[in-house]
Amino acid sequence: MMFVLVICFLLSSFEAQSRTIEQDIISASALMERPSNFAGEELDEPSIMFGDIAVGTPLDITAPCTGQSCKWPLSSNGKVFVPYIISDEYSTQEKDVIFQGFRSLEKSTCVRFRPRTTQRDYINIEPNSGCYSFVGRRTGGQTVSLDHDGCIKLNIVQHELLHTLGFHHEHNRSDRDSHVQIVYKNIIPGQERNFDKIKTNNLETAYDYSSVMHYGRFAFSKNKEATIVPIPDSGVTIGRAKRMSSNDILRINRLYCSSK
Ligand SMILES: [Zn+2]
Repeated sequence: MMFVLVICFLLSSFEAQSRTIEQDIISASALMERPSNFAGEELDEPSIMFGDIAVGTPLDITAPCTGQSCKWPLSSNGKVFVPYIISDEYSTQEKDVIFQGFRSLEKSTCVRFRPRTTQRDYINIEPNSGCYSFVGRRTGGQTVSLDHDGCIKLNIVQHELLHTLGFHHEHNRSDRDSHVQIVYKNIIPGQERNFDKIKTNNLETAYDYSSVMHYGRFAFSKNKEATIVPIPDSGVTIGRAKRMSSNDILRINRLYCSSK
């Protein structure tokens, strides 16, 4: 009986989340705090969204990206290659912004984005509805959605690529309660999961209000009141990063590039 109840709970939870997909919000920064019209109807689309994170099951979002199955493999030459396919639906100008995102990560880390040839695992960058990515590497091709409408910006490209490399949102960090207060009474009902605390691997880096992975102060607000308030200084600017921070880069190096 207990087993059946658990299954029923998971199914009902799954259905409830599927129904709220169209209300999900993309947020790398204030620029991204807008409703997504993600429909989830195409075959290669993820079944569930968690903010702008695509999730294969209701539970795998809670896992920190520390295992080899989540990371992209380190080559013998010390580089971490992430094979990619990019949609022909993008204009040359849009592709330039995406390539700029690639280069910005490559410039300061051992990560290298290369066109896919025969690799099993790769990212498939395409303009679906909204900006989203999975967290970490998955088996086979995985969608990184960068919609024409609002996602072709360097900070958003960097944000989604950081998800792809295994990084969560800053305000979900395991130590976030020492740095921000989550104001649940201001959150849109049904969107509370976007503020879950996750057992993240923080790689001994400081909590970073200026991370490109930090949500804005009013993310998922139902009443234009703050949902994330920095502590102890509530006036600190959060979620406004125009570029990756030095901490964002340090984390990539600590997770992937052991020589740095
Ligand atoms: Zn995100």
